Order: sequence, then C-alpha cells, then structure tokens
Amino acid sequence: MIRRPTDSRYRGAEEIVRRLRSGGHQALLAGGCVRDLLRGEVPRDYDVATSARPGQVEELFEETRAVGKQFGVCLVILDGSPYEVATFRRDWGYSDGRHPDGVTFCEPEQDAMRRDFTINGMFWDPLEDTLLDFVGGRADLERRLVRAIGDPVTRFQEDRLRLLRAARFAARLEFAIEEKTRQAIRSLAHLCADVSPERLQEELRIILTDRDPAGALRLMDELGMLFVLFPELVETKGCEQPENYHPEGDVFVHTILTVEKLGPHPDFELAMAALLHDIGKPQASRQGGPKCFPEHCEIGRQMTWQVCRRLRLSNDETERICWLVERHLYFKDAPNMKESTLKRLFAEPGFEQLAELHRADALGSWGRLDGYEYVMDRWRNMPPEVAQPPPLITGDDLIEMGYEPGPLFGKVLDRVREAQLDGLISTAEQARELARTTADQLQP
Ligand code: ATP
Ligand code: MG
Repeated sequence: MIRRPTDSRYRGAEEIVRRLRSGGHQALLAGGCVRDLLRGEVPRDYDVATSARPGQVEELFEETRAVGKQFGVCLVILDGSPYEVATFRRDWGYSDGRHPDGVTFCEPEQDAMRRDFTINGMFWDPLEDTLLDFVGGRADLERRLVRAIGDPVTRFQEDRLRLLRAARFAARLEFAIEEKTRQAIRSLAHLCADVSPERLQEELRIILTDRDPAGALRLMDELGMLFVLFPELVETKGCEQPENYHPEGDVFVHTILTVEKLGPHPDFELAMAALLHDIGKPQASRQGGPKCFPEHCEIGRQMTWQVCRRLRLSNDETERICWLVERHLYFKDAPNMKESTLKRLFAEPGFEQLAELHRADALGSWGRLDGYEYVMDRWRNMPPEVAQPPPLITGDDLIEMGYEPGPLFGKVLDRVREAQLDGLISTAEQARELARTTADQLQP
C-alpha cells in the first residue's frame, strides 16, 4: 500500500518507531507524512506519535530536545536530523483561539480527532504496514478533498490558523475544500486576523514558497481571507489600468498573475514583492487620475514597509522586499541607462530577484521582455572586472591630497566612481584630477 522511501530521513523515522516499540511503547508515523506517503510523495518532515511519555522518549534516545514537553512533544535528533516525537494526546480548551489550554495523554483515536483535516489525521505503522484511519482520511485523499475533522466551525474557532492551512493544502494538492468546511471558512474568514504575527508569518512563508502560491492566493481571496490579511490590496480590485500595457485586467488580476509567473517555489522575498509590487497604485491614481499611477513605486514601498512590520519580518527581509517594490519598474528604461547606473544595479545584492520580478511583472501584463533581455544579456556578458573594477582612489588618497574627511568625501568619491564605471577615466592620475575639480566645485 505504501512504498517505503529509501532516503535517510525515512530510515531515521522508521528507526525511531522501532526503538520506541522495543522499549515497549506503541509508535506510529502520524499526520502529514502519512498523507504524503500514501500519495507516493516524499514528505517534508516525519512526525512520530507514541504512547511513550516525553521522559520515556528521552531515555531511549541519546540526543533529544525539549520543545513542548508539557504538550507531550519532544524533538529527537537522529543522524543530525530532527524528528518530532509526540505522545498521543487530546487537546482541551482553546480559550484564546490559538493554543490548547492543556493536553491529556490518550489513545491514538483521540489523537486523530485533534488534528485539523482528515487527510492529515491518519497513522501508519511502518513495521506492520498497517494504516490506522479513524477519520476517513483515505477516502478523502481518493476524493481529493480537504475536510475538517469534526465540526468545522468549532475546529476553526479553536485555532484560526487552520483557516489558512485549509487553503494551503487545497492549493498544494489541487484538492477541493469540502462544502461544509468551505462554508465554515467563509463565515469565519475574518478570524484569521487574530492569528499571531509569528504564526501568520510562518504560514505565509510556506504558502508563498509552495508549489502554487498564486492558486493559494486566489483561493484565499475566494474564501474571504486575503483582504483580511492584506487590507492594502482591497482597492487593487477594480483599479483599472491602461489596456495597452495591461490587457489582463485590473491591478488585482495583474498582481496574482505576476505571482503566478514567478513559477513554483519562488523565494519568499520575491513572492512578497510580487504580491505587493503594485499596492501603491490605487493611492497613486487618486493623485494622478484614472489609469495614471505617478509615484506608485514610492507609495508602494512605504505601504510594503508597513505590511512587513505588521508581519514582524526581519529588517533584512523588510529592506529587501521594500527595495524590490520600489525598483520594480527599474528595468523598463534599461537600454537608456548610463553604464554606471547599470553596473551599480548589477552590484546590488537583490539584482537577480529584481530581474525575476521584472520578468514576472512583464509576463503578467503585456508580455514584452525586451528590457529584461537587454539587461540580462549585458549582465551575462560583462566580466566582473568591468562591472566592478577596483576603485581608482579611496578616502585615504583624498586625505593625502589635503582634504579634511567629511560629507564632501562621499560625494567626491561617488562622482569619481561614476566616471570610472562610465569609462570616462581609467587611471589613478585622472581620478585625482577629477576629485580635485569636483571638490573645488562642491566646496563653498
Ligand atoms: P507539511 O507537509 O507542510 O509539513 P503537515 O501536514 O505535515 O504539512 P505540519 O504543520 O508539519 O503539517 O503538522 C503536522 C501534523 O500536525 C498535521 O498533518 C496535522 O495532523 C497536525 N497539525 C498541525 N498543525 C495543526 C493545527 N493547527 N491544528 C490541528 N492539527 C494540526
Ligand atoms: Mg509536516
């Protein structure tokens, strides 16, 4: 029924089950990995469910980490890989809509009932090759359905993150969401605003880097969740654009299409930037008139910063995503760019992401890739010593020339560098001369 994978991750999981069993405990593979194994796919991670208590698990393995001992969860490290080993448990009370108030250890059947969807609620015994399916997961896998275990409304109220997980699994597996589960999500969609920023960020990270992020976003929109999480996107729907550049439709349609054109498994920063690249358009058009979007890159950058803050993204990620949004039209004028501008663009750490964003943006609208192809062609054919030659002079040279360190330094060096990158000067001598005339011009 299940073909055992041959990789070391799987062997590790089986070894954990075997060791728990020989210690006299019941042990099974549980949840998402069973779903993936039944589908013939390699699971992202393996979870083991057992009758052993965390203390007993710790006794059986050399290397363990306590991650949620009070909830019965232990991390076992085997051959350097972590596996989650959790005692069969039943959750009770979800007074905050996020965490169970406590857990009680129990039989596998009740452990299945606390899981989110039937396809995620099965156990498999790899030693006996038997499936324990208390929730009808097998049948739903065959029918290609995401169905909540138990009463969907109650289950989503208990933990609001499940609303988003439903969209994630439906999009990833190309499954439909069962009707009652679907109705429950639509009626409770507003609750996904209560998910903590940390869990939300983690979930969005998985969704946006998954196989079909655009599909997941369309589904989240259909179910009423997308605008709860990103109210900034509300006005992009119905925000009309010039047909010659945007035959595909309004800003919203274009946005999701841009995400789609990134292809499967994009990196997170890029996917966020694609999702947010035009959020400045509705506001810009209030200033510029219908179908006119002056300053939308700058407005978009500011709005993007707010979104990233709200999701508590790191400074590095926030800066990169904002930079991509701000520069997303940058390639458009590439053939007219000065050499120095182009070379400086190549030196940006986010250059390749920006190129990819531009490509997706173009493919998600009028489809012309001339700007992209021009830049990539130049980039591929420019040797590094031409793109990033060592500077002809430094601040030390300026000091030696008798200038006082200060704000002037940066401006002078910048002008000299620009001339170098534009091919106007190529020796230290010429650089010093240009530095001198520039400093004289700039100094009062
Ligand atoms: P993935 O392939 O993305 O890892 P997964 O199904 O393994 O998907 P995990 O987040 O790794 O998902 O969780 C493992 C299992 O734990 C799930 O399959 C499900 O049974 C259970 N689970 C996880 N999160 C929840 C939740 N919020 N509510 C109920 N059960 C959950
Ligand atoms: Mg998993």
